[in-house]
Amino acid sequence: MRLASTFLILFSLTSICNAQTGRPMLPGKTKMPPRSFLQGMPTTKPMVEPTTLPVAKDTSTEQSSENGWYLSPHGTIRVLVLFAEVVYDKNPGKDPQADGAEHWPKGQLPRWKDNVFDPQQLKVPKALVTRYYHDISLGRYVVLGDYIDHLFTLRESEYPTAANGGSANALVIKEANKLPAFRTAHGLTPADFDLWKDGAAVGMPKTPGADDPHSYDHVMVILRNSSLTHGQGSTDPGSSGKLFGYESDTQSRFGGMNALPFEILKHEFNHLLLGGNNFHSGGGNAAQFDSYSLSVQGGWSMMGASSSSLLTCSGWDRDRLGWQAPNAPFLINARDAEENPVNGDLDPFAGDTGIFLLDDFVTSGDALRIRMPFLPEGEYQQWLWVENHQTYALNGSPTDRFHWEDTNNPCVAKARPGLYMTMQIERDIKSGRDLRRQRGLPPAFDGLRALRPRTYGRHLARHLPVRWPDDRLPEGPREPAQRQQRAGARGVR
Ligand SMILES: [Zn+2]
Repeated sequence: MRLASTFLILFSLTSICNAQTGRPMLPGKTKMPPRSFLQGMPTTKPMVEPTTLPVAKDTSTEQSSENGWYLSPHGTIRVLVLFAEVVYDKNPGKDPQADGAEHWPKGQLPRWKDNVFDPQQLKVPKALVTRYYHDISLGRYVVLGDYIDHLFTLRESEYPTAANGGSANALVIKEANKLPAFRTAHGLTPADFDLWKDGAAVGMPKTPGADDPHSYDHVMVILRNSSLTHGQGSTDPGSSGKLFGYESDTQSRFGGMNALPFEILKHEFNHLLLGGNNFHSGGGNAAQFDSYSLSVQGGWSMMGASSSSLLTCSGWDRDRLGWQAPNAPFLINARDAEENPVNGDLDPFAGDTGIFLLDDFVTSGDALRIRMPFLPEGEYQQWLWVENHQTYALNGSPTDRFHWEDTNNPCVAKARPGLYMTMQIERDIKSGRDLRRQRGLPPAFDGLRALRPRTYGRHLARHLPVRWPDDRLPEGPREPAQRQQRAGARGVR
């Protein structure tokens, strides 16, 4: 059973002299606790128990991706949600869903209103988005939320731009201020939505605590039937006006015409953690956005969207945001043959060879990142990420499966437990005085290229014995990127 729970990666580069095994272990190495997550039937119990974590104070003057872009990816945040619909009393023919839908009847709050965020931290997160952040962050990031217990109605006759979901926040706030009192479904107060101080610069440390006066950390508007229809939306830092007397630090708006708009919600919120549109990747990219290498579509990442494969995060995401399991000594953590923790960030041609075990990526955080050899200074460096996704069927993580898989549509095969690999091309700078300008490169992450499972063997067979010993360079971009970051400071999509 134990062997079945891990994947064994063997690097034996015998053609290179003095091949060694792994990097040194930490002093006082300890055996990992028994892993039971593969010994039973599928479970929804997360393997990393939620804990209240202290937020480390960073006094550096450099930007770091681990601080997050506009929001911290650590600690606890609580999102204030406002649900709204448009009444097309001037142009009834333009209503994209005039009769409502079963999941969101006209004139009511959506039926899934309590499945977006948990209002309070639970030992086992229940709501979809809260659970997603718990799982991808290995319990490091707690994203809670609650909603105003009222459906806001935007009438075209009162607001000529009501149908334009992209500018809905200001109108919904106007409507909300007509209510006699601030009332959320779970009885929270504005102070409960102000857990972080506003005003930290992008990439700089964020300070936990309340603003004076209060400022909501994030106000999210979800519309039933606007121009955003379904799966569209945007986010930006700032406020669209005082809501019961308080501004917001960040805000967003989404169309939820067909269901809980999970994919666009996570994509946009993840922008606030990672960066602008130049971070589009893993099924969330488009030709007009910065992308000097692949994963324009396909692959998986926090920035994945409609064309992602897995819904969960990638090892690159976790490395970028500083998410590691509480018991993992390395940010990219793996195990040696005796199951002791070892650094999974490998440079085989510098001696990082040996036998490596990978536990389930989602629940243990294990991953390998293998540096590609023979790329001289000045060329984009490349790494192969290896992750063992045991998938929802075995680890119970609701998002460790293919996008659309849960529709049971026969044309979508279920993700199979096993090794998933992706290429990182450059995109490795995590800190600096100005991350955006370093080396003229945007701090983008779209240099991830997913490898299709069936091509692993051929890919490795072709590249390992043939290309590497011949000292020929793998194909890849040669010209330095000259592009400037296109994502503005405000408004990413
Ligand atoms: Zn985006």
